[in-house]
Amino acid sequence: MVVRMRHTRSHTKNRRSHHALKSTGLTKCDNCKNMKKRHAVCPSCGFYRGTKVLDLVKKMEKKQKKEKAKKAQS
Ligand SMILES: [Zn+2]
Repeated sequence: MVVRMRHTRSHTKNRRSHHALKSTGLTKCDNCKNMKKRHAVCPSCGFYRGTKVLDLVKKMEKKQKKEKAKKAQS
């Protein structure tokens, strides 16, 4: 909609009252009960729809190994 003429402040505010952003859909994880994004793997336990998709322990170990290697280098 193109605003053709000047409106009152209340008219402008009334129009903009519909412009607020809605929060993205967050749901509880079935496995660990933490909040997670919908349609995404849970970041705290690696489960998606009741099955383990990500091995977070292995991931953490890999990350730590990488950091250690980086520290040893410098
Ligand atoms: Zn979870």
